[in-house]
Amino acid sequence: MDTGNMLQPGEILVEGERIKAVGSSVDHPQGSKVIDLGDTTLLPGLIDAHVHLFLHPGAEDLQTVEESVPWRTILAEQAAKADLMAGFTAERDMGTEGAGSADTAVRNAINQGLIPGPRLRISGNAIDVLGGHEDANHFNPTQHVLSNADYANTADELVTVMREQHKEGSDFAKIYETGPDKMLDGVLRTPYQYTEAQLAAAVEEAHRLGTNVGVHAQGEPGTLYAAQAGVASIDHATQLSDETMRLMKEKGIFALPTFTIFEYFAEHAPSAEIAAREKALFEYKIAEFKKQIAAGIPFAVGSDVGPFPHGTQARELTLMVEYGMKPLAVLQADMTNGAKLLGWAGQIGELKPGYYADIIAVPGNPLDDISVVEHVSFVMKNGEVVRR
Ligand SMILES: [Zn+2]
Repeated sequence: MDTGNMLQPGEILVEGERIKAVGSSVDHPQGSKVIDLGDTTLLPGLIDAHVHLFLHPGAEDLQTVEESVPWRTILAEQAAKADLMAGFTAERDMGTEGAGSADTAVRNAINQGLIPGPRLRISGNAIDVLGGHEDANHFNPTQHVLSNADYANTADELVTVMREQHKEGSDFAKIYETGPDKMLDGVLRTPYQYTEAQLAAAVEEAHRLGTNVGVHAQGEPGTLYAAQAGVASIDHATQLSDETMRLMKEKGIFALPTFTIFEYFAEHAPSAEIAAREKALFEYKIAEFKKQIAAGIPFAVGSDVGPFPHGTQARELTLMVEYGMKPLAVLQADMTNGAKLLGWAGQIGELKPGYYADIIAVPGNPLDDISVVEHVSFVMKNGEVVRR
């Protein structure tokens, strides 16, 4: 994927959980099983760097209130399976939205082979300020409805919450940096939640733990503070100033546009008024994305699946091409940059000897028509065929 080279025909020799050889023809050791996938294209497994296994379509705020964590964990197992069957062999779960560290159990069960699912990097709950973007602000205050995230109001509290989450099994920290969002005179306005110094304390703590920080950040000045603090990814990344983009390029901070969720909300709004608002934000986002491509910032691919059905999120790659990126650049953003962001560089994201055997087949050449990734016909993860 690094080079964009395609072999025709192509063969891959898999031994155990790893790729042993790749070529136009490879050794067929005695006793090896041959899987002929005909006229399909083999690719490394897809990576979705922004998912919510613990969310399903329907009122997001009520899922926390009405559904128990055990029930939501069972649904998360189903979501993990649906994503894997769609070709996503690695994912970063960006917050359980009120299910705390229940994702630790899902990740561990997948790793132990008890349930099917992608390789996971998990955050537990996301982190947010009191009265912030994910707090249950619109409920009757005397009902004391819980936030969908863990509270942290200062740099010290950020570090404490991250240590608690780490104890409970998190792989990285997801922090809400902006919101709520509104469009004013055709421009996105969104308040920030943490200062640069507060985010820098979180980044330092993450580095101490050998992990990183991903932020939900739609616009300025929150996106700038996140870039200055040195987060690993800016998710949604709708509005990035020239200085923010300069820092992202310099530090290798990935932008994840998450188009699919914006498209879904614009098309599934509960009223005409909300639909108009969502559409305006979506169009603004597309225009800003073209500037971001021109500026040459690094991208990774994240769909924000959960609020829309699991297993349908390969559409994100199609939309990134539709709005201006080249197909090869999108595949590299997904696989090469996704592997880096998830801390699996050199292990996944390429069909190369020594890499994990995470392999999918698609019906055609994605460099001609990227949408073939929405029709995955074969999935191998860790050397095991999970879909055929
Ligand atoms: Zn999200």
